[in-house]
Amino acid sequence: MGCQQSGDDLVSLAVTIRTELERKLSNKARVHLPFDEDKTEFEKANLRFTQYERPTYLAIVDPVCENDVIEVVKYAREKGIPFTPRGGHHSVTTTMGRFQNGMCINMRPLNQMRWDAGKRHVTIGGGAITDEFVRFVHDLGMEVTFGAGLGRLQGKYGFLNDNMISCKLVLADGSMVVASKNSHPDLFWGLRGAGHNFGIALEATFQVYPQANGGIHHTWDLEYTLDQCDEVFRTLNSVYESMPAELAIFVLWLRRSSGRKHIILVNLVWSGAAADADPYVQRFESLEPVLSSGRKSIPWPELPYATYKEMNKLFCKPEIWLRGPYKMMGAACVETFDLKTTREFFESVKSMSEKWEDRGWFSAMFECLPDQRVREISDDATAFPWRGGSNHFLMLNATPKRMEDRKVFEDHLNYWKRRFIDTSGYGRLQQYVSYGNGTSTMKDPPEALYGYEPWRLEKLRNLKQKYDPDNVFRWYQPLLES
Ligand SMILES: Cc1cc2nc3c(=O)[nH]c(=O)nc-3n(C[C@H](O)[C@H](O)[C@H](O)COP(=O)(O)OP(=O)(O)OC[C@H]3O[C@@H](n4cnc5c(N)ncnc54)[C@H](O)[C@@H]3O)c2cc1C
Repeated sequence: MGCQQSGDDLVSLAVTIRTELERKLSNKARVHLPFDEDKTEFEKANLRFTQYERPTYLAIVDPVCENDVIEVVKYAREKGIPFTPRGGHHSVTTTMGRFQNGMCINMRPLNQMRWDAGKRHVTIGGGAITDEFVRFVHDLGMEVTFGAGLGRLQGKYGFLNDNMISCKLVLADGSMVVASKNSHPDLFWGLRGAGHNFGIALEATFQVYPQANGGIHHTWDLEYTLDQCDEVFRTLNSVYESMPAELAIFVLWLRRSSGRKHIILVNLVWSGAAADADPYVQRFESLEPVLSSGRKSIPWPELPYATYKEMNKLFCKPEIWLRGPYKMMGAACVETFDLKTTREFFESVKSMSEKWEDRGWFSAMFECLPDQRVREISDDATAFPWRGGSNHFLMLNATPKRMEDRKVFEDHLNYWKRRFIDTSGYGRLQQYVSYGNGTSTMKDPPEALYGYEPWRLEKLRNLKQKYDPDNVFRWYQPLLES
C-alpha cells in the first residue's frame, strides 16, 4: 500500500511533490517534508495519539482554504499518490497503518466557525476539534452532543451526526458537493455513520439548542476497590434500566489513585438541576466508595477536564502522547454488564498491571450513556447501525512501552474483547465505527461496523461505487476489503 519505493526515490518524490504542489496552492499554504532542516512543522503535524499501526507521511500539507484541499486531491489523483486528511489525529484505528508514505492533508488550519442565529445552526470547518466546537457553541448559550458522534448529551439530542444539517465535501475526483436532506440525500445518509469512505469534509453545519441549566453541569467521582466490583456493576445495570436523559456514567480503571492501587472510578455527570441528581448519586454513594469527590459544578466546555480526577488535562496534550506511544484498544458494546466477565476482566487488568508494571499499562474506560433521543430516530435514518444495539461502549486499553512486547498486550485485549462479546447480550460484535479495529491482530468485520442487515452494506457499497469508484478513501474502516 502507499508508495513502495526505495529511500532515495521517496526523497526525490517528496521534493517533487513540494515543488509542484506549492505552485498550485495559495500563498500561505505549506508542504512539510520529513527531512526538512527545520522539522518543527512536520513533527507537529505528524504527532498522533498512538504510534501503534499508524500511517506514515511522505509530505504533510497545511492548506489555508478550501480550494487548497481540492488542489491537493486533484494533484494526488493525477500522480497516483495516496492521500488522507487528518483532524485531531486522535483515532486509534489500525487500518490506518496500511497507509504508508502518502500525503497527509492537515485539516487543522480549516477550523473556522459560523453562527446562524435565526436557524440556530453552527457551521464548523473540517479541521475543527471538539474543544473548539464546544467552546464556540457554549459562548452562544447553546449546546448539542459532543464527541466524534456519541456523548453525554445524546439522550437529549441524539448523536452529533443526527444534528447534521449539511456537509460540504471534496469527492475523490476533486469535485465539491454539498450533501443534505435535499442535495445528494443518498450521500447525506451515508456520511452519518460511514463518512470517511466518501470524501474530505470541508465544513459541516449542525443544529444546536438553547443550553439547559445555564450551561452548568454537575459531576461526581466515586472510587471503589476491586472487591466492590460486582456491587458497582449491579447498580450500574439497574440504574441504566431507567436512566434519565440528564445522566451519563463513565467507569475507568486506575492503576493508582490517592495512595491506593487498583481502583474502579465511577464518574457521574448530570446535565440538569443539581437536586434532581440526588437519587442517582445516592445509589452509588450507598455502596460506600473509598473516596468520593462530592459535587463539582462546571461550565459545559470544562467537563472533559474536570471529570475523572482531571486526568484529561494531561492526556489531551499532544506533547504528552509520546510518553505512552503505542496505545492499543479493544472495544465492544454490551447490553448489560455480565458481572462475572467484568470482575474477571478487572482482576486480569490488575494482575497484568502488576506483572508488567515497568513495561507498560493496562486500563479501561466504559461509557454508559442515555439513549432517549437516539432511539426516537428511526433505525434506517442514517448509516449508523446501532441505535438500539449499543447500551454501553467498552474501551479496553493496553500500552506496551516497547513494540517487542506487543503480542502480550494485543492478546490481552483480543481475549477480553472476545469474552465481552460472548457475554454482551447481543451475541455478536456491534462496534461503534470510531472505536473499531484497535488491534491489528483481531479484525472487526465490516458488518460489525456498518450493520449486519445485508441492505446496509449493499447500500453503502453502491454509494461507494457512485461517489468513489476507484476506492481512493480506503484507509479508515474501509467498506470494501482491500
Ligand atoms: C480515549 C478515546 C476516547 C474517545 N471518546 C469518544 C467519545 O466519547 N465519543 C466519540 O464519539 N468518540 C470518541 N472517541 C473517538 C474519536 O473521537 C475518534 O477517533 C475521532 O475520529 C477522532 O477525531 P480526530 O479528528 O482526532 O481524528 P483523526 O485521527 O485526525 O482522523 C480520524 C479519521 O478521520 C479522517 N478525517 C479527519 N478529518 C477529516 C475530514 N475533514 N474529512 C474526512 N475525513 C477526515 C482521517 O483521515 C482519519 O481516517 C474516543 C477515542 C479515544 C482514543
